[in-house]
Amino acid sequence: MNIVDIILDKRYGRVLSDEQIRFFVKGVTDRSIPDYQASALLMAIVINGMNEREMTTLTMEMADSGEKNDLSFVGDVTVDKHSTGGVGDKITPIVMPLCNSFGVNIVKLSGRGLGFTGGTVDKFSSIEGFNIDIPKTKFPELVKSAGMVISGQTPDLAPADKILYSLRDVTGTVNSIPLIASSIMSKKIAGGADAIVLDVTTGSGAFMKTFEEARQIADAMIRIGRSTGRKTVAVITDMDQPLGRYCGNVLEMKEVYDTFRGRGEKDVIDVASVIASKMIKLAGKAEGLSDEELDKECRARLADGRALAEYIKLIRSQGGVVNEDGPVYKDEPQLIYDVKAKTSGFVFSMKANEIGHCSVELGAGRVTKEDDIDFGAGIKILKKRGSAVREGDTLCSLYVGRNSGLLNKPEVVERIADRVRDAYEISFSRPMTIRPVIDVLGDK
Ligand code: URA
Repeated sequence: MNIVDIILDKRYGRVLSDEQIRFFVKGVTDRSIPDYQASALLMAIVINGMNEREMTTLTMEMADSGEKNDLSFVGDVTVDKHSTGGVGDKITPIVMPLCNSFGVNIVKLSGRGLGFTGGTVDKFSSIEGFNIDIPKTKFPELVKSAGMVISGQTPDLAPADKILYSLRDVTGTVNSIPLIASSIMSKKIAGGADAIVLDVTTGSGAFMKTFEEARQIADAMIRIGRSTGRKTVAVITDMDQPLGRYCGNVLEMKEVYDTFRGRGEKDVIDVASVIASKMIKLAGKAEGLSDEELDKECRARLADGRALAEYIKLIRSQGGVVNEDGPVYKDEPQLIYDVKAKTSGFVFSMKANEIGHCSVELGAGRVTKEDDIDFGAGIKILKKRGSAVREGDTLCSLYVGRNSGLLNKPEVVERIADRVRDAYEISFSRPMTIRPVIDVLGDK
């Protein structure tokens, strides 16, 4: 078999055979196919697409390109969740303990933040003592003691996707339904779960800017899930503004803690309840409860301390420090600037990606993989879409950690503040309300 023929077949819109896809993924993984040929095929896939069989084969070959987790020690249906990313997305630390309170055991592999979206690994790492690098051999022990474990994703999981994703990033080939769907699903399948709940975000702070794009990606992932024997549900959620009140690591984990004490923001509770409900149902732990009753029960457990008790157990089981006031964090956010409105009206729209970028500039995320995180940095969002605003009102507050280099760089802080202000569109009319949960698709 010859890679040039495979590129030409896709370039002329032909359907690739399973053997051709296997040859490609194997060659990418063992580096026998050079980057320029892999990139040429990726571009041909972007342009001419893939059918369901090709997409499924690509997914399974990428999932098989490295080590796969065997979660049979759980002894039950295992469910995973994945978010396509967003600003202020703190759903994983909320749904893990919530699902566990229903008896769902969870093994969660998460990524670090890169770009304007935050990463769950960084959020948990902001808790003093919390160990996020758990060797696989310790998973059974932690699942037995705490019912769940969260760990950073190892480089051995779906290495072909890792290589292809870094090529796509620099060759204009990220935006393709078969490539995105197979990339996400290959990692979920290698992660070992029997069932998958996908949080597919849409809007200015998401990868998929329109509902239609989100729906198409969701459909593709559901089809891959089905053809590989995994029940898959996709929840399409709004990311046209940051989720909840805060972005930044310590700030978001404090918001998570507040959510467990009945003080959560409505959008966070809405999204967490629907994601958790679908996970609980797929795990077979919702017996006797209708969808409405399950949703109500999730909301009740978030508010009455049952999910909180599981959260504390999770933190302690991975070495995190918790005292009588709750988890202890590595830093304490310091308020450095209030961004004031220059006009009156209503918040008509927000560029959530800009707010995410500003949070990264304050130190809450990384610009390159090697950057250190300032755990205390981030943004409190006081005015969200639809809020009434008067000139001089605070739209957002900017925070940094105790040792931030920005504490003596007012000119940089002011530039970030201007950028945050520019992320707001303030108008005379109120925007149409968009629900945090837009649609639910798949094996409901
Ligand atoms: N996230 C992934 O893991 N892969 C993609 O292709 C896009 C988003």
